[in-house]
Amino acid sequence: MIRPLIAGNWKMNGVAGMLSVIEEVVNGLSERSDGADCLICPPATLLDRASRAARGSALKTGGQDCHAEPSGAHTGDISAEMIADAGGSYVILGHSERRADHNESSEMVASKAEAAARANLTPIICVGETLDEREAGQTLSVISGQIDNSIPETATDASFVVAYEPVWAIGTGKVATVEQVEEVHNAIRKQLVQRFGGSGSDVRILYGGSMKPGNAAELVSLENVNGGLIGGASLKASDFLSIYDAGISNL
Ligand code: PEP
Repeated sequence: MIRPLIAGNWKMNGVAGMLSVIEEVVNGLSERSDGADCLICPPATLLDRASRAARGSALKTGGQDCHAEPSGAHTGDISAEMIADAGGSYVILGHSERRADHNESSEMVASKAEAAARANLTPIICVGETLDEREAGQTLSVISGQIDNSIPETATDASFVVAYEPVWAIGTGKVATVEQVEEVHNAIRKQLVQRFGGSGSDVRILYGGSMKPGNAAELVSLENVNGGLIGGASLKASDFLSIYDAGISNL
């Protein structure tokens, strides 16, 4: 049984007032059974304060991206070591918004994943096809290429998380169908087992794309769906906690 991960991605949302959401989630988790890992990745400016608010609780914090180098002349970037120093234990890498807005290639994502391992962070490596790619029947080949090239050569075991996020489902309210999610997640699992042997069965594969309290239970009940990466619905504590509840309801 893989322990699910319910992860929130706040993107470029949140100033100090949003720390109340962290507090509500911390309190909510303390009243619930411990059935899943729970993570929030706030903007970098809030990470240290969010980590302090979550310290000693079941809530983990993480970054939304990192540079491949530990330090240096890279204005505006933050390193994996800085995320760890601010209390983070995970980092989201290769989100489609970074791939699109910052031209991040899978090879760059792999270098960042190596940096995450160097700083003892767990990388959440995101993959996903665009609508054009899906309509051209290229979904599985796109995902397979992204998986191959975004997971570093040096990765040897299940010390990373994969998130399947169809680009057309992110922030659009459109959710992939059960059949679409199953097809891609099963293919990812097969590829991970081919590459990593037995430990490929232990890697968590999250679904992301308009996950909400109303659709989470069905999605996370699917065989190779081991949790969710949640954008919009992670900004409201009650919605995020409902998704957590869905994550533990199958246990
Ligand atoms: C995301 O940003 O990773 C995401 C899945 O966003 P949303 O839940 O808002 O679609």
